[in-house]
Amino acid sequence: MHSDLERVITLQRLDSAAHDAQRRLADEPARAQALDARLEAARQRLASAKDRLAANQNARRAIEKEVAVHQGRLSKFRDQAMAVKTNQEYHAVQKEIGFAQTEIKTLEDRILERMLEADDLSSSLKRAETDLAAEQKAVEAEHKAMTSENSELTALLARITVERAEIVRAIDPHVLKIFELISKRRHGVAVAEARDGICMICHVRLRPQVFNTVRGNDAITQCDSCQRILYFSPAAASATPANVPQTAR
Ligand SMILES: [Zn+2]
Repeated sequence: MHSDLERVITLQRLDSAAHDAQRRLADEPARAQALDARLEAARQRLASAKDRLAANQNARRAIEKEVAVHQGRLSKFRDQAMAVKTNQEYHAVQKEIGFAQTEIKTLEDRILERMLEADDLSSSLKRAETDLAAEQKAVEAEHKAMTSENSELTALLARITVERAEIVRAIDPHVLKIFELISKRRHGVAVAEARDGICMICHVRLRPQVFNTVRGNDAITQCDSCQRILYFSPAAASATPANVPQTAR
């Protein structure tokens, strides 16, 4: 293979890898934010479960105070019942006693409802605590993975810079200029595989003599349509494409 053609293929592979690494690094703040939001949501769920249980307990205590008031009245009426002189007074006090008893019964039913509700709220609270602990563990693990990915990608970018500089030193400056120009115009993809007479990136059919030249892999040949530098991969002609990305146009 033409040595500069081999170099532009390698340059493209390095540039594409660097581009992917940079994009992944650029995504990090958003990913970290999403993790923090997940944790915050679990904290919120726990806080609101605690609030609901506290509200339930407050409501129950308020009802218990009301019960105490009515029980005070009840014992006062019972004392009065001992001291009544007339039948009329007796009936009046009995009626008050009946009212107070009904009131107490109603309030006690409400306390029972609150207690049943408290059981559900306690289980919800326990679930929210377990969920938060699990989220904390998962989020911590993902942060850790992100940190190690960050150092891997940073190291990769450093290696790519070194390797790229070596190629740039060795390549014909004119070829490098073509590569850089097309790379700039074509979203960072300056090299394309030609297969079955077609540019595999812009999908335009090449003139037969152009494809023939490309098949030799012995010159810097550009696609008439997208201007990318073309190469031919005998192995890929019947299998998968080479390591040059096929997505950009
Ligand atoms: Zn093309």
